[in-house]
Amino acid sequence: MGVGPSGLVNDIGPEHFPPNERYFALVNFGNTCYCNSVLQALYFCKPFRDKILGYKSQPKKKETLLSCLADLFNNINTQKKKTGVIAPKKFVAKLKKENELFDNFLQQDAHEFLIYLLNTVADLLQEEKPTDKNTLKGKQGLPNGKYNGNNNETKTEPTWVHDIFQGTLTNETRCLCCEGVSTRDEDFLDLSVDVEQNTSITHCLREFSNTETLSQECKYYCENCCSKQEAQKRMQVKKLPMILALHLKRFKFVEQYQRYTKLSYRVVFPLELRLLNTSDGAESSDKLYDLVAVVVHSGSGPNRGHYITIVKSHGFWLLFDDDVVEKIEVSAIEEFYGTATDVQRSTESGYILFYQTRDI
Ligand SMILES: [Zn+2]
Repeated sequence: MGVGPSGLVNDIGPEHFPPNERYFALVNFGNTCYCNSVLQALYFCKPFRDKILGYKSQPKKKETLLSCLADLFNNINTQKKKTGVIAPKKFVAKLKKENELFDNFLQQDAHEFLIYLLNTVADLLQEEKPTDKNTLKGKQGLPNGKYNGNNNETKTEPTWVHDIFQGTLTNETRCLCCEGVSTRDEDFLDLSVDVEQNTSITHCLREFSNTETLSQECKYYCENCCSKQEAQKRMQVKKLPMILALHLKRFKFVEQYQRYTKLSYRVVFPLELRLLNTSDGAESSDKLYDLVAVVVHSGSGPNRGHYITIVKSHGFWLLFDDDVVEKIEVSAIEEFYGTATDVQRSTESGYILFYQTRDI
């Protein structure tokens, strides 16, 4: 263990080293492991990598965060050596320039960075699309009378970021007086689930979709009854994404300390996952997902500690820790579930899980 990139070829065995695959660690520029860890996870989400490399092969456009990401992925993909270390200098510089949140030397939240990156890439793709925008705008409003959540963002044309990561949740509210049901759909790029001690990701997802009763001051305004009524509400997955990104809400704001604290709870995540919290009409709701990457946080809070990533590639598992990459046994994955003891300890625990549907 602890071998650098050169030892990796021996660890894998030169004869088993996948042809056309590169395993490159990333230099840390001072607390940029939140960024490195997410970049590695995304690199090993194959559909995402393929699209980014495809973008790179298109005619050169102006420098954006997307073009810098494409250059970085391409740089890794076209290395002569099979393993080594790369400095994602241009990407990190562009990131800091584009968003002041990341323009410092503090540790950042890897999940915030992931969502920022996916949204930025999607926005840039939309901007660069040849303009048939005017004709589309009119049709995008409210299909089938549904409205798009309580956020006022208008529905825009989907990009391949949406094709890969976007799923749809359906919110169902049943009035307990008239039994009338209203539904509201909401798109997501990732799901954020609450965590509890000694549970599993399946449990977290079930809790996420559990029926909640709205009563007392939280009553629901029923259009049918024209008054506030008690109601039951539940949220289920209606459209399953190609890649399901699951964010474990491990950072919790504690009033008493006026800061975020980390929940290192042991949450088991399986190598194979089926979503059980799908709505009745959900298409291919029995899809099987394979775990392909995990961003792991170690340490005690969002602005301290360290991020690493474990990924699955060609049937084996690798651990990326900034400028180190090593092969790990599949049995070592359970070390990243968290801790079942409540003693405050610096534990390595799964923070963002990436599951990919098997049929692609
Ligand atoms: Zn009602």
